[in-house]
Amino acid sequence: DATRANTTVRTTCAYCGVGCGVLATPRADGSVDIAGDPEHPANFGRLCSKGSALGETLGLDGRLLHPRVGGRRVSWDAATELVAERFAHAIAEHGPNSVALYVSGQLLTEDYFVANKLMKGFIGSANIDTNSRLCMASAVAGHRRAFGADIVPGTYEDFEQADLVVLVGSNLAWCHPVLHQRLMAARDRIGTRLVVIDPRRTATAVDADLHLAIEPGSDVALFNGLFAYMSEVGAVDTGFVAAHTCGLEQALAEASGHVADVARLTGLDPSDVQAFFELFARTEKVVTAFSQGVNQSVSGTDKVNSIINCHLISGRIGKPGMGPFSVTGQPNAMGGREVGGLATQLAAHMDLEAAADRERLGRFWQTRSVADRPGLKAVDLFEAVRDGRIKALWIMATNPVASMPDADLVREALKACPFVVVSDILPDTDTAKCADVLLPAAGWGEKDGTVTNSERLISRQRAFLDLPGEARPDWWIITQIARRMGFTAAFPYSKPADIFAEHAALSSFENDGGRAFDIGGLAALDAAGYHELAPARWPFRRDASAQTRFGGDGRFFTPDGRARFVATPVAGPAREPRYPMVLNTGRVRDHWHTMTRTGRSPRLSRHIAEPFVEIHPLDAAQAGIGPADLVRVESPLGQIVVRALVAATQRQGTVFVPMHWNGQTASDARVDSLVIADTDPVSGQPALKSGRVRIARF
Ligand code: SF4
Repeated sequence: DATRANTTVRTTCAYCGVGCGVLATPRADGSVDIAGDPEHPANFGRLCSKGSALGETLGLDGRLLHPRVGGRRVSWDAATELVAERFAHAIAEHGPNSVALYVSGQLLTEDYFVANKLMKGFIGSANIDTNSRLCMASAVAGHRRAFGADIVPGTYEDFEQADLVVLVGSNLAWCHPVLHQRLMAARDRIGTRLVVIDPRRTATAVDADLHLAIEPGSDVALFNGLFAYMSEVGAVDTGFVAAHTCGLEQALAEASGHVADVARLTGLDPSDVQAFFELFARTEKVVTAFSQGVNQSVSGTDKVNSIINCHLISGRIGKPGMGPFSVTGQPNAMGGREVGGLATQLAAHMDLEAAADRERLGRFWQTRSVADRPGLKAVDLFEAVRDGRIKALWIMATNPVASMPDADLVREALKACPFVVVSDILPDTDTAKCADVLLPAAGWGEKDGTVTNSERLISRQRAFLDLPGEARPDWWIITQIARRMGFTAAFPYSKPADIFAEHAALSSFENDGGRAFDIGGLAALDAAGYHELAPARWPFRRDASAQTRFGGDGRFFTPDGRARFVATPVAGPAREPRYPMVLNTGRVRDHWHTMTRTGRSPRLSRHIAEPFVEIHPLDAAQAGIGPADLVRVESPLGQIVVRALVAATQRQGTVFVPMHWNGQTASDARVDSLVIADTDPVSGQPALKSGRVRIARF
């Protein structure tokens, strides 16, 4: 559209949870100039390699531009009628729990809100889960256990004000590069000490004052040891603990059981453990930031609580430069949590298992169909699809055939499912190939809405391109189908601003301060106000009293207002003698998820051009593997063949394979097809960082 040419639009990046502000300027030749937004408080003009290459990932090559049924192009009317009819039929025949939605942290909050409303409010089932289950469900569960609500207490500024930053299971330099840049710039100014706890010597670990190359999965032993040490040396804020917490004695009793064993359990040098404990105990301003290395584990929730325990005992929470901090992977993982995108939550942080909250939501939405029990979490959901319990499934903006653990089972499940709908921008992802109905969704740059980053900052993502072909925003697609299912009055939306206003009003509906998420102060925005909305951090209550952090005032969201120490038992690592290596999976710097977007940029693909397995030199020598050899990586579920990267950065006995490469590439290198779908019993998050494999030269 010529009218858009040379007009700069303020938007946000499509990728990670840092949530950088972007200035996008479409040009008359079809190209788009991208720059960091100097006024956005997440990045102040910075962008990383992925963000700055966003303009190279646009274009319509290979795009899904029309609805398709059974591979044939159909009208929107025909496609939405078919989806509504098949969902309604399954519900009529088998009940509301026979249908499911699997959505994505790539969705905008407005899309997420409508999807969740349809499922939990009107279909009457909580069978809507999201790929955020793979990302930060353990952090959510840990927050709820400790604080009574899913709150990230601090902000990015705390990274810049801390004297010590501890990064646990986080390769911040590659996975959240702009936050890492902010941390490094602050370090230059104030000399921040940096401790990195990660089995691998990552690009982040290289910068650390102390790198603890921990045995995978042993984080609870380390933080329990630290917790007990702090108690022993008196690094305790007794006033805070007495007035604002409970459960210390029980948690300490659990933690003290293994103190003498910390070095052995973690595989660390005792002097390094001691140095870490001393540094942490004596430094007041500490931020402990954690990411997938913590969350993606069978003990992910306990890991989160073992970290939070160390901040609660010292009262280092919710004050400048202090606090535990969950860094989220996806651009809108936090927004999804706000609207109840997880099968275990209701919208606006209301509790699915609390009758008062279900009734409250029913009053607000004027429905009697609010789901009354938690739905299926991601791994269980696809098992239910395979077992035939789910008769109709709708997947939005995600590629579970590449990204779920036991990914081949997901493909089998989709092939066996009577009716699979996929909304996406591409017709040929591993998942889209399994669809009966393909719905063309709007992509980044074409859609309009909001996202919330890791520090609770709500920002607008704005369109700067016209909708191509017949592609439509996800909220529109869901709305059409909801209306065709008979829920017309409840889905009156004609634009994202309508949905945001409802979302904001719901957050403050009958909220006397008992629910942390409250953006009632944004509920009165009209379309113009919504269009212009500047980044706003929640809570943003109607009374407009500013609150940057949570917990500093000692107020939490449990029934008695006190934070909880949680006893976190140390679990032994799972061993499988026939598959002796621990498989760690994760990101590389310049790719995102299953590469459906970043794979289009030659510049990004130059950083790391092909999938690899990173192996310690001694393990490689023992297996007769040399640098750049082809290696078969095999688990009980299958095998992939990838190039060897022999490097002492890898901990002995462990290997690392990136998660990005998928079935579209020349060799099928979907590493998640090798990972058994073990999950954390509390959060349901899969243990994507502790697969069991053996390696051999191919
Ligand atoms: Fe985008 Fe994250 Fe990079 Fe910022 S740090 S530009 S949000 S990928």
